Amino acid sequence: MSVVLDDYLIWEHGDIPYEGASALAPLDKLEEVIPEAVFRAEVATWARRIGVEPKEIHLRAMKRKWASCSSKGRLTFDPELLKQPAAFRAEVIVHELLHLRIPNHGPLFKAMVKAYLAKYGVNC
Ligand SMILES: [Zn+2]
Repeated sequence: MSVVLDDYLIWEHGDIPYEGASALAPLDKLEEVIPEAVFRAEVATWARRIGVEPKEIHLRAMKRKWASCSSKGRLTFDPELLKQPAAFRAEVIVHELLHLRIPNHGPLFKAMVKAYLAKYGVNC
């Protein structure tokens, strides 16, 4: 799957709108729901890999986006992610965590998202 999460400059930084993501996670590819603890462990693992320390991690329904990142280091993920394929979860997690280092969707950000996902064998 090719992944485009950078077309969203009209959004607040850190936002990943459902419109873009729906193509990445078609309904027929939904996997079993993972427990929140597993999701949080995934976030912690990626944070170590990327070398960032999110101040707070929240799960909260957001209606129009998958996740967001505040300038204060607070990450919020939509619980619907618990139903999405592992590769898609990884992409959203890496995207948000990298915003702690790069607060935009520029070429460097884009390249780093791809590099981290590739480095750890995530096929998007
Ligand atoms: Zn973003």
